[in-house]
Amino acid sequence: MGKREEYDAIVVGSGMSGGWAAKEITERGLRTIVLEAGGLVTPDDYVMDVYPWDLKYRGRRERAVQSLQRPIQSTCYACDAWSEKFFVRDDENPYTTAEGTDFSWIRGRQVGGRSIMWGRHVYRWSDLDFEASLKDGHGVDWPIRYADIEPWYDHVERFIGVTGQAEGLAQLPDMQFLPPMTLNCQEQVARDRLTQAYGGERLITIGRCAVLTQPHNGRAACHYCGTCERGCSTHSYFSSLAATLPAVVDKWGIPALRIHCEWSDNERKMLQEMSVQAAEMLDAVGARDVVSFVEDNPPGLTIHEMGTARMASDSETSVLNGWNQAWDVPNLFMTDGACMASSANQNPSITYMALTARAVNHAVDLMDRGEL
Ligand SMILES: Cc1cc2nc3c(=O)[nH]c(=O)nc-3n(C[C@H](O)[C@H](O)[C@H](O)COP(=O)(O)OP(=O)(O)OC[C@H]3O[C@@H](n4cnc5c(N)ncnc54)[C@H](O)[C@@H]3O)c2cc1C
Ligand code: SF4
Repeated sequence: MGKREEYDAIVVGSGMSGGWAAKEITERGLRTIVLEAGGLVTPDDYVMDVYPWDLKYRGRRERAVQSLQRPIQSTCYACDAWSEKFFVRDDENPYTTAEGTDFSWIRGRQVGGRSIMWGRHVYRWSDLDFEASLKDGHGVDWPIRYADIEPWYDHVERFIGVTGQAEGLAQLPDMQFLPPMTLNCQEQVARDRLTQAYGGERLITIGRCAVLTQPHNGRAACHYCGTCERGCSTHSYFSSLAATLPAVVDKWGIPALRIHCEWSDNERKMLQEMSVQAAEMLDAVGARDVVSFVEDNPPGLTIHEMGTARMASDSETSVLNGWNQAWDVPNLFMTDGACMASSANQNPSITYMALTARAVNHAVDLMDRGEL
């Protein structure tokens, strides 16, 4: 019989959240094992500098193979001939949805998870988001506020490296920024006109991204090849693989999921309003022939799945307490999107990372005090 290994902590998944959990737990000195269902990504998997003319179909995929292997994944903008290996094969990873509903579940199954092909946009949430459920009555109130997570945003951002411009906006708190990329001249004109048209109430700012505009924590600055979804051999954008992951392994054998998810009236109204506001702003900056539209895709394609094991202050209405700890299983912490009590306008992954770092440090404190 093989030697029995004992661990203090088990991390399930090595993606955005799992990578952070592994990093924080090992830094606190615990023996940790990461269980990962996918395989390793090797340097040969990075094809940043492979050109369309180097590929058989010039970057297009064989349609018959695509419709058989990745009919759902291929609806994602980032799943192309270069990057499709980072997306699961739908025929090998089936799931079902409740009758009459649809859900586009975009997944990556490899060490690093979807941090390999994510869009890298990172925006802090503010109290407008953490208090939204309380104010509008949808869902349950978050058990935390911005002040609870602010130091953890700082902690995560200092490590991953975020480029962006400080603007002092209450709804989009400033971050620990590396130097910003610059707006091009059309964008600068649009920024000036929009600021003027809305009296400073709205503004255009450069995207906030987990991409390095200067060397940072041993990783090289971006050289702007622009093919990030294919993976980055210089590790210039943040991924678990490049930055947080210390260790790896394993295979999977899990039951297929049945998803119950539908847009509600509330989301449809927001979608309509977003379209109107976007058209009005384009008009204000001088754009011509603006045609507004509403893309009514099934849920999922935004790739920001949240909820299902939400956090709240009351065990009657939630699975997790305000520290991402399961009410019913005290040594189980869920820190990915499952914990989110509501969604927001901002992309969520940096909030998962900050919540993960916060939860891990709380859990290890509890262990140190013999309370877990
Ligand atoms: C194309 C694209 C663009 C995106 N753009 C952005 C963006 O700009 N900003 C943003 O904030 N977010 C973005 N996202 C979303 C972001 O990638 C996810 O929010 C984030 O990766 C979720 O982190 P996670 O740890 O929960 O899951 P993942 O990163 O998906 O990691 C899950 C890991 O768990 C493993 N796993 C699954 N099942 C098991 C099992 N049973 N046992 C063991 N391991 C298992 C998987 O193999 C995987 O490694 C984007 C996603 C995609 C695909
Ligand atoms: S982060 Fe920069 S260097 Fe890396 S793939 Fe993206 S554009 Fe290229």
